[in-house]
Amino acid sequence: MKALDELTFDNRFARLGDAFSTHVLPEPLDAPRLVVASPAAMALLDLDPNVAETPVFAELFGGHKLWAEAEPRAMVYSGHQFGGYTPQLGDGRGLLLGEVYNEAGEHWDLHLKGAGMTPYSRMGDGRAVLRSSIREFLASEALHALGIPSSRALCVIGSDTPVWREKQERGAMVLRMAHSHIRFGHFEYFYYTKKPEQQAELAEHVLNLHYPECREQPEPYLAMFREIVERNAELIAKWQAYGFCHGVMNTDNMSILGITFDFGPFAFLDDFDAHFICNHSDHEGRYSFSNQVPIGQWNLSALAQALTPFISVDALKEALGLYLPLYQANYLDLMRRRLGLTTAEDDDQKLVERLLKLMQNSGVDYTLFFRRLGDEPAALAVTRLRDDFVDLAGFDAWAEQYKARVERDGDNSEEQRRARMHAVNPLYILRNYLAQNAIAAAESGDYSEVRRLHEVLSKPFEEQAGMEQYAQRPPDWGKHLEISCSS
Ligand code: AMP
Ligand code: MG
Repeated sequence: MKALDELTFDNRFARLGDAFSTHVLPEPLDAPRLVVASPAAMALLDLDPNVAETPVFAELFGGHKLWAEAEPRAMVYSGHQFGGYTPQLGDGRGLLLGEVYNEAGEHWDLHLKGAGMTPYSRMGDGRAVLRSSIREFLASEALHALGIPSSRALCVIGSDTPVWREKQERGAMVLRMAHSHIRFGHFEYFYYTKKPEQQAELAEHVLNLHYPECREQPEPYLAMFREIVERNAELIAKWQAYGFCHGVMNTDNMSILGITFDFGPFAFLDDFDAHFICNHSDHEGRYSFSNQVPIGQWNLSALAQALTPFISVDALKEALGLYLPLYQANYLDLMRRRLGLTTAEDDDQKLVERLLKLMQNSGVDYTLFFRRLGDEPAALAVTRLRDDFVDLAGFDAWAEQYKARVERDGDNSEEQRRARMHAVNPLYILRNYLAQNAIAAAESGDYSEVRRLHEVLSKPFEEQAGMEQYAQRPPDWGKHLEISCSS
């Protein structure tokens, strides 16, 4: 276990130099205080969890203090936003403080979001509000606990600093961690600004540090792109299987590591709705729930374009062709498990599609349906779940097919079925209304609800005593909450 001043830095991205990032110091928050910390994320840095409660912790992650070895940098990138190219983006309110190595030899970027203005702030104030910082913190840690690759969050630091959004709010900082903060938009930036040398340096950097096994391949850059395609197909299959809607899948929010990255007006589905749009400024539904699948491919094509100096167009196209079949195979595999199936049959895709259609038409809770389906043997479970559906004849027909399918699946002792299904079907997810409750309390100075919610979500598959209220459908006020895009 380490104390805060014992972290070991090795700032590899900073060493790429001024063409890639700009040195900027964090701008401190007034009266910084700990809102919430993640012991699991602290463990990744070998940090003693008790240090979160010390004043120096809030000072470090509230922008007041800095390790001597840190080299805070704002990264430059660009990207396609809602389908159109924006030539100049970058860390407008976040700083890569440095890269820390843990005892296992893993390195973690420490990125402080909400750290003040940078050369890339454009019209923004460089700040993040408490509300959006709590949402990012809870979502990153909750996704990780669900087994969905994501950036991590060490802590949220609150403050007295006024920040103006639709109304006056308070500034906060979230300390984000990832093995890399390099986005698709980094490659696009050097491609569209026609800087081939830096473009090559960036590609070498990513290959050496994050895809070293691709070095062994005859075409290392192609192997790396293929791997990025595969990781994104797997990631988006998980989003779709668990009902996560990212909301702003611009290419500057897509990680080169295939992890969930940059949280805005994201949402987990309550009722199943394939057409759900969580970002209320997304008028055309470009980033609707079901569109995440083709948009994943669109974003990979944008990255492919930026890699044309290194890889032939034919090879890029072939690699892009892997995305959809891989997505489908991963998705179907996850959905089979969610249904408790251990074998594969040709018609399973149809079984899933029919169920989702019925759920869509009846507004059935996406998370609780699967959890309850695993509570009991199939025949009993479907009888109980039947009441949630409006189209009873439709549900009965599906239930007959499902029961027959479960029968053919074989080994289905009641206990095994329950254990197997509960291990993949969470009881607790980050519902918008739960986040909203925690935010409202935190805004009035009570951080206990954020902390409790974080703890519950860190074990989403385990039924926790006394936490029934976190496993409920939203009350009327909490359905279809409009989440502000300003953050
Ligand atoms: P996002 O929608 O959060 O992915 O942000 C898109 C771009 O706007 C990124 O370059 C951000 O750094 C920048 N940005 C967002 N909010 C602010 C802000 N309050 N101040 C400065 N830059 C911002
Ligand atoms: Mg972003």
